[in-house]
Amino acid sequence: MTRTVYVNGVFVDESEARVSIFDRGFLFADGIYEVVAVMDGKLIDFDGHMSRLRRSLRAIGIPESMTEDELLAVIRQLVGVNKLDEGLVYMEITRGVADRDFVYARDLEPSVVMFSQVKSLVENQATREGVRLKSVEDLRWARRDIKSVGLLAQVLAKQTARDAGAYEALMIKDGHVTEGGSSSAYIIKDGVVITHPLTNDILPGITRASLLKLVKANEISLDERTFTLEEAYAADEAFITAASTYVCPVVAIDDRPIGDGMVGPVVRKLQQVYIDHARDTAV
Ligand code: PLP
Repeated sequence: MTRTVYVNGVFVDESEARVSIFDRGFLFADGIYEVVAVMDGKLIDFDGHMSRLRRSLRAIGIPESMTEDELLAVIRQLVGVNKLDEGLVYMEITRGVADRDFVYARDLEPSVVMFSQVKSLVENQATREGVRLKSVEDLRWARRDIKSVGLLAQVLAKQTARDAGAYEALMIKDGHVTEGGSSSAYIIKDGVVITHPLTNDILPGITRASLLKLVKANEISLDERTFTLEEAYAADEAFITAASTYVCPVVAIDDRPIGDGMVGPVVRKLQQVYIDHARDTAV
């Protein structure tokens, strides 16, 4: 079944969707993106994704060509026409179309593209049984806090992980874990949830922001600090979060079992707490 997608103001069948070869997103990865989860036809952590979208646009000087209400209306229409019950909405905004030149004119009209993807997020093998990670050197640029479409380092990291039989890459900078290839990373040691603090070295995950509020609300100890790969190997439990995986247990890193190699009780609890939050706050 083909999808209806959104390209620069119009809804078209995916087979008819076109962007210019001169789009700066294509030529320079000069653009940003967001991915929002859909549960029961509703959007999860929507306000957080919108504020990060605006933050990313501001950070690279792309004007806001659509209001949040306009974006929401397009997303709702995409979810509606495609009858999306569970999955993702991808949105990308690039600086626009111009003859190739590194330097850009300030008056370009941004390109806006959105499409939906069907995906089981709540109940699947990864969330049920946990996943394996493979550590990979973090080769990304210095502004990982911007959700840039320049994702080559993540593409290569995640492919390396997948080729090694792992579900996700665990990105390592100077012996320390930054995050997953496309997820935030956490370990649990002696009852404390440990995750990298918000700096330019990681993307400020929206699922992370919601989850950390839930961690505090459930009186689970939290330490936002860097941790080494060795600490990760020795953790009692581990997990990753993203809009595309919610809370996903990690049962092995580099073929070393985490804890007893089974999904642990704190991660199971956080999984449920996050799903409950998502259902309660979906819009
Ligand atoms: N870190 C990186 C590098 C990502 O690409 C992503 C999501 O794609 C995340 C973290 C998780 O962010 P979010 O929870 O907003 O999906």
